Amino acid sequence: MVRILWDPLPASWPAEARRRPGGLRGLIAWAQNTGAVLDDDVELRVRRGAMQAIVREAYQQTLAEQDSEHRGSAEFAQEWKTRLASLLAMKTVEVSGWSEITIADLDTDLGWSLYTAALNARSEAITHAIAQRSRPSLPSDAQTSFYEFSIVAPDEHALGHVRYAVCEPCGFGLLLKISFSPDWQFCGLGTLALRQLETRHPMLTWYTTGQYTHAKGFYQRYRQSSASPWTEKQNPCPHFDQRPRPRRS
Ligand SMILES: [Zn+2]
Repeated sequence: MVRILWDPLPASWPAEARRRPGGLRGLIAWAQNTGAVLDDDVELRVRRGAMQAIVREAYQQTLAEQDSEHRGSAEFAQEWKTRLASLLAMKTVEVSGWSEITIADLDTDLGWSLYTAALNARSEAITHAIAQRSRPSLPSDAQTSFYEFSIVAPDEHALGHVRYAVCEPCGFGLLLKISFSPDWQFCGLGTLALRQLETRHPMLTWYTTGQYTHAKGFYQRYRQSSASPWTEKQNPCPHFDQRPRPRRS
């Protein structure tokens, strides 16, 4: 998705974008007036880059609302589409890094192809997200072990990160921190992470830390399908001391 929205588009993508639409009339008029030879490839590249910037702008506007709106994948896709449609319905659009873009100069079909491709890439990343293996983080003491793992897209792009600790003798697991970048919040990956913890350490009763208050709704929903309480508990047993310890020799 990042590649589709941020990287320069390959000239061959998608094929129909190579059709010559009306185009960048001001620039062409200027070229004709000054007698300059206008490089077709440059013109095409600029036009495509402008369209990409608008699709990206619609995406970022939608993303900026996630803090308050908490849209799931389908709702997010719909809102992104609505915003793109309303940008494309304007006469001109201002996007950071670009001078004013005149919509009539653009190939809106390309915009919708980009939206669809980026949306598919996003869905693909979410649907096929993989939780990597747990690896030890802090040195363990006699009782408690600290671990972390990442959740990645099939192309290994990191979507989120999980840190946790377990005290096997007492039978407790403690989720220390779960974090996703705003791009990957509210699309089910938190559920995937918690499910992984329970699968990897099936004998434990799970709690979480102070981050509970920021995501109460999430834990309340998750709890319905879990044997663990998943409530806030900094120290389920006396062994969850998170201060770094010197490695024993
Ligand atoms: Zn313990």
